[in-house]
Amino acid sequence: LSNGNDIKYQEIPGLVRYFPLCMKNLHEHLTFDNHLRHGGRMQYGLFLKGIGVSMDESLKFWRKMFNKMTDDQFQKGYAYNIRHSYGKEGKRTNYSPYSCSKIIMGNAPSTGDHHGCPFRHASLDTLTKMLRKSNIKENHVTEICNYAKEHHYQLACTKMLEYVSGINNEYLENINHPNRYFDQCYPNSEY
Ligand code: SF4
Repeated sequence: LSNGNDIKYQEIPGLVRYFPLCMKNLHEHLTFDNHLRHGGRMQYGLFLKGIGVSMDESLKFWRKMFNKMTDDQFQKGYAYNIRHSYGKEGKRTNYSPYSCSKIIMGNAPSTGDHHGCPFRHASLDTLTKMLRKSNIKENHVTEICNYAKEHHYQLACTKMLEYVSGINNEYLENINHPNRYFDQCYPNSEY
């Protein structure tokens, strides 16, 4: 599902503003904690693969972010899984990035997990804070939270895309995949 981009690992932090809220959240926790649990690594790692980060760049990215462990720990505990998700180990299945329905219907995050869909899994209070951090105006934050409250998670996400990108909603596809959010947002973000 690569979109033909060839994104270097150093470019990833600069692209986060074009990411959907679920991936922004994962990136933020990864940056802050220098770690993500398996569910988060899978959700974020496959998304990055989908935006055009190669396996080699991905290995460099995760190594840099997991900077509190030794190289040996990284190679033994994590590098295999990254190569595996690119189909280079084990059964050589080439895994696809997760869709919104897989993320929304999947295992809910427990304490210490950061995977999932914030519109589905975050408290209203946390969701409000996340939206404000993305520079969404207060009346739009309320509108988006109302969609989430009514269980219209993907509509809430599409509204967010509309406000972040400044693209009129008649030109936007409803979000059903995090990678489609990125494709439509990049490089139109106003922030
Ligand atoms: Fe991510 Fe999809 Fe939820 Fe948007 S609706 S935050 S893309 S899982």
